[in-house]
Order: sequence, then structure tokens, then C-alpha cells
Amino acid sequence: MTVEQIHVDTLVVGAGQAGVAMSEHLSTLGVPHLVLERSRVAEAWRTGRWDSLVANGPAWHDRFPGLEFSIDPDGFAAKDQVADYFEAYAQKINAPIRTGVEVRKVLRNSGRPGFTVETSAGVIQANRVVAATGPFQRPVIPPIAPRDSALEQIHSADYRNPQQLPAGAVLVVGAGSSGVQIADELQRAGRQVYLSVGAHDRPPRSYRNRDFCWWLGVLGEWDAEIAKPGREHVTIAVSGARGGQTIDFRALAHQGITLVGLTRAFDGQRVSFQADLVENLARGDENYLALLDAADAYIARNGLDLPLEPEARRRLPDPDCVQQPLLELDLAAAGVTSIIWATGYAVDFTWLQVDAFTEHGKPRHQRGVSSEPGIYFIGLPWLSRRGSSFIWGVWHDAKHIADHIATQRKYQAYSDAAQQPAPAENQTKTFSPVGAL
Ligand SMILES: Cc1cc2nc3c(=O)[nH]c(=O)nc-3n(C[C@H](O)[C@H](O)[C@H](O)COP(=O)(O)OP(=O)(O)OC[C@H]3O[C@@H](n4cnc5c(N)ncnc54)[C@H](O)[C@@H]3O)c2cc1C
Repeated sequence: MTVEQIHVDTLVVGAGQAGVAMSEHLSTLGVPHLVLERSRVAEAWRTGRWDSLVANGPAWHDRFPGLEFSIDPDGFAAKDQVADYFEAYAQKINAPIRTGVEVRKVLRNSGRPGFTVETSAGVIQANRVVAATGPFQRPVIPPIAPRDSALEQIHSADYRNPQQLPAGAVLVVGAGSSGVQIADELQRAGRQVYLSVGAHDRPPRSYRNRDFCWWLGVLGEWDAEIAKPGREHVTIAVSGARGGQTIDFRALAHQGITLVGLTRAFDGQRVSFQADLVENLARGDENYLALLDAADAYIARNGLDLPLEPEARRRLPDPDCVQQPLLELDLAAAGVTSIIWATGYAVDFTWLQVDAFTEHGKPRHQRGVSSEPGIYFIGLPWLSRRGSSFIWGVWHDAKHIADHIATQRKYQAYSDAAQQPAPAENQTKTFSPVGAL
């Protein structure tokens, strides 16, 4: 299939949830557009995650406004159900998506408007480009990782199930939602697991009959525009696994996981950990209790009739690994044969060769509208608010960006009308969806 020499008004790169949301809002405003996806719709949910993953939020919450999941609204959709959902959504809105086409380079045209876009199927001219290529593109493994070790080392992006790892104990580095769920799964599969825990937030799965997603919504936290100072890199440890349970690190330790502090360095067979486990757990507890307090205050202020839940404030006794934290571990003696780096992701915009980045390579934008006129970003963490990289947040950012594009088109149509006989729309071929939708 070739894209040939075609001209689109707005090109959206990527058909995950961000690209589908963009398409919905562009269509609503009558903006001609094309979405190019190198793989399939919602590929990250389909093949980019471990086998047992379910959504971290309940089905009533982790969705777009226009379509419900066909599962219990309080349940947690399996990753393939999430992928199916976005495919169904794309079909429902008749999104003009072409799958199997990779965008390789975007360059601003010189002396004329728009961008030249090189793809795996030909060259496109686009007036505007929206980068919807995802918040988690390049797995990051910190430089402390031992290089010439016989240990099996993978990033959480490549973890699928316990059977893929060689027999033996596992060190999981990072205890955000991915690390903590993977550690739990490995321990339940009979592995000895060491879990390296850094700074984290750990909201209760539910409190007083409401899921934490509801609490963060009514308390305005999903709409927070910037992270609290000092908490910019704090992960959030939540899980929808096994019906959804609060992440309680002490419970994981009583279950058999050995908790350790931040992983500091490797020296031959030995790994050292920072002496910060107790402090990290204490700050996680603080965050947990602060949410309970805020929820109680909200209930009182609004006179809501929600059941009391005093047991939510009960704390398990500190397990041995918290009372006497390990500061060093001989990996061979402990039988550790693999390390899983659940240490996050970075973005990769090497294909987008425009003036929309800071000197450190970070997208330069305001609510997704970049400093290079005509270039937009969507789906990035904290693009406009805390919810921006999540299913329910990206939908609102897409609306804002589509509005901006529609407004720009009005300005351009005005000058076109004054200088040229044909309005911009007539120069744009329209596209029907092609590809494996
Ligand atoms: C383990 C994990 C669990 C998560 N769980 C939840 C959850 O429960 N609820 C929630 O709301 N969020 C969750 N998220 C966060 C977020 O919702 C997902 O990361 C989601 O996939 C982001 O959607 P996106 O469309 O922005 O990016 P992606 O889903 O990554 O989509 C980007 C698309 O762009 C395509 N692409 C990339 N580069 C190019 C190119 N050059 N040319 C053409 N196509 C390209 C990719 O193939 C991909 O399909 C989770 C994230 C992870 C990592």
C-alpha cells in the first residue's frame, strides 16, 4: 500500500487512545485528517504489555465518554479488552486510520506552509502534524545496570509472564504500578522476589465504597496542572489485578516478597541498596492517609451517606525486611538469576525534526500546542494535567488541540479567501479508512 504524494490538512501520528481521541474531535469540528499507525490500533495494549495486565482503573472510569466497556462497570478490563475497546471506538467514529504505515521523518517546508512527512509508504504533505506516539516509547534502564553479568535482565516492557524467566530468584527494581504487579505475580508463581522500593504514592484501591479514581476525580487531583514540588518523579502504585486491591507493601512482605530500598550500585555479584526503605514506606503511608483524610472531609462537607471504614487505617506490623532492611545482597548466594527493570520510559521524537523541543530534547508546548506552529503533542504525562497520559484525560486534551487547529484553519481560510479563489479544504483529498481496523 502506498500513501503516494498526498496532501492532508492534519496528520495524526499514532493510533493508540490519543490518536483515536484526536480523530474524534477533529471529525466533530470538520477538520480533514488522516491517522497513520505503524502497527495496529492500540498496539501498546495488544502486545506491548505483560499477559495478565488489566486496567488500573475500573471500566466505568477508564474509558471515553462515547462508549462503555461490555464488562461489569466496576470491573477491570483485561489488556486485550482495552485494545478491542479502542478498535471498536475507532470503527464507531469511522476514524480515517491507516495501519501498518510508519512515519519516519517530519520536516517543516521552507518558503511555503506545512510539513513534508516521509513514511514507510511514501511522502505526504501536511498542514499540521499531531504527535500521538505515546507517553511510554523507549524503555529506560538506569546506567547502574551491570553490563557483563550472566544475569537475565529485561525491562518491564519486555516482561510477559513468570515462565519466560530462568529458574531462580528475581530482583524487581522499581515499585510503581508495573514493578509491584510483576513482583506480586512472580511471588505467587513460586519465585523468591526482592522488590526495590523508591518514592511512591499508593492510594487505597477503594475507600468508603468509592474507587480511588472517583476520589481523585471529585477531589480535583486528576486535574492538577503540576505535580506537587518534590513529587515530580514519584510513581503511583495501584493495581486492578485480582479484582483490584490496595497496594500494601507490608502485606506483600508478609506474603513472602523481600522489600529493599532504592537500588544503588552493582559490584560483581553484589548489589547495594540505599537505606531509604523505611522512609519510602512512611511517605507512601502519608500519601495513603492524606487521601483518606481528604475523602472523609469531602464526605462531611457534602453530607454524603457513605459507610465508615475504620479498618482502612489499620497498619500491618513491620515485617523483618522493614525492621532490618537489607543494604547489600550477594546475588549468587541468594539464587537471583534475573533482574526486571521496572524503571519507566522516555519519549523518542527523533523522527520529528522541527523546532518544538528544548535544548534537553523535551517537547516545548503549552497544553500540547508546540512552539513550532502546526506541530502538536498529545498523550504526554502532565501535558495539561495529571490525567493527561491516561484514557480519561487524553480525551479532554484532544478536544483542546482540535479546537486550536479549527481556530487556526479559520485564520488561514480568511487569508486564503482574500488571495486565492479556492478554499483550503478543496485542495485536500479526503481519505476513507484503509487497513486492519
Ligand atoms: C503497563 C501500563 C499500564 C497502564 N494502564 C493504564 C490504565 O489502566 N489506565 C489508563 O488510563 N492508562 C494506563 N496506562 C497509561 C496509558 O493509558 C497507556 O500508556 C496508553 O497506551 C497511552 O496511549 P497513547 O495513545 O498516548 O500511546 P500508545 O498507546 O503508546 O500509542 C501510540 C501509538 O503510536 C504508534 N507509533 C509510534 N511511533 C509511530 C510512528 N513513527 N509512526 C506511526 N505510528 C507510530 C505506536 O505503534 C502506538 O500504537 C498504562 C501504561 C502502562 C505502561
